[in-house]
Amino acid sequence: MSATVSYTFVVVGGGIAGVSCAEMLAQIASTEDDEGDSDLSILLITASPAVKKIRNVIQITRFLASFDVEEVNAAEYEGGGRRVSVLQDAVEDIDFEGHVVKTEGGKTIRYSKLCLCHGARYSNFC
Ligand SMILES: Cc1cc2nc3c(=O)[nH]c(=O)nc-3n(C[C@H](O)[C@H](O)[C@H](O)COP(=O)(O)OP(=O)(O)OC[C@H]3O[C@@H](n4cnc5c(N)ncnc54)[C@H](O)[C@@H]3O)c2cc1C
Repeated sequence: MSATVSYTFVVVGGGIAGVSCAEMLAQIASTEDDEGDSDLSILLITASPAVKKIRNVIQITRFLASFDVEEVNAAEYEGGGRRVSVLQDAVEDIDFEGHVVKTEGGKTIRYSKLCLCHGARYSNFC
């Protein structure tokens, strides 16, 4: 049985939505670091071996942007700085009341806030 680890934010999904979410949270946390002391921790869980980062964002209209997508090996991803930890594993169950995520790899992860960015495919846990 593995030990339970805890994070402030758990982001599920290493696609464009999940990576952008984790990076934005890391950015907010580092701003809070400058202002005082922030102990926000962020875990990005992705079933795929690669995560998708976006770069060269050009805002065309308020709701339309152009950008490039770069695939990065999940194990080497450092986009959110030291703040974002990455776990390559698939979420198989979520206890929404207890704030606990369980993965196929046998990990039990506690969270304060959960961001579900696992794409449009059907998932058992939702
Ligand atoms: C062929 C094709 C062409 C497209 N072309 C364009 C285009 O030209 N322009 C455009 O704007 N959009 C395009 N799209 C749409 C675009 O790809 C999607 O809108 C976008 O990728 C959605 O991003 P996402 O992060 O929400 O989901 P996804 O990219 O689907 O990412 C989901 C992530 O969640 C992970 N995941 C899923 N289940 C679990 C689980 N149980 N545990 C842990 N991780 C999990 C997956 O491994 C993946 O990393 C295209 C889509 C397709 C299929």
